[in-house]
Amino acid sequence: MIYDSVNIGHIEKCTTLTGIETNLEETMAFVIDIDTKEKILVPKIICVGRNYAAHAEEMGTEARSEPLLFFKPPTALLHQGRSIPYPPFTSDLHHEVELGIVIGESGKDIKMEKSCVHIYGYLLALDLTLRDKQAEAKKEGAPWAICKGFDGSLPVSMVVRTNNLKAIQSMNIKLWINGQLRQSANTNQMIFSIEELISYISRFFTLERGDIIMTGTPEGVSPILPGDVIEAELGTRLRITFSVR
Ligand code: MG
Repeated sequence: MIYDSVNIGHIEKCTTLTGIETNLEETMAFVIDIDTKEKILVPKIICVGRNYAAHAEEMGTEARSEPLLFFKPPTALLHQGRSIPYPPFTSDLHHEVELGIVIGESGKDIKMEKSCVHIYGYLLALDLTLRDKQAEAKKEGAPWAICKGFDGSLPVSMVVRTNNLKAIQSMNIKLWINGQLRQSANTNQMIFSIEELISYISRFFTLERGDIIMTGTPEGVSPILPGDVIEAELGTRLRITFSVR
């Protein structure tokens, strides 16, 4: 869908190039402020891989000297109240619980010490991954577009507005499958800090209001199956529950 005018913020309807009004709801390409309920359009989602040493180790890979980046399209977003459709083109769907940073103020070549100025807030999300397709892609040196970016591959919470970097960088993050704890870590265990990530990413990609930076998953990733219930928690304010169908 192409829009001729989109204002970020309190919009419920957009106009397409053909002049037909459409509900922004239909696109799913937004996140919601948990307090104001404001909808924030998401232009792009930049993800960081292998940002926790123990996860890099469990994947049999080395920690990197620079962040590993990939994209998910905004159509990957899946909101609370929906269930996760098990994709028919995989037999190895994995959960990865992650902290996501939402950008508030646009910027390019952002200095580390100025990065908090550009933060709107944070969210909790699942970087769902087709591990079998990812293994094939890795073997061929092919991009991760399908294994990471398929529809519904980013179930999300609402957004907590804050740019208190110290607080965001020291939150407990946990995930349970059917009540069993599978992932448990603290965001202070990241290899590349939020400041470093914002500065590094903005060298290559202009960061825009509403962009989400997914900061990587800690160890404990594992397969999920239809019928499973996934619960996750970040800090004291965010908790999500999604069932897989
Ligand atoms: Mg991930």
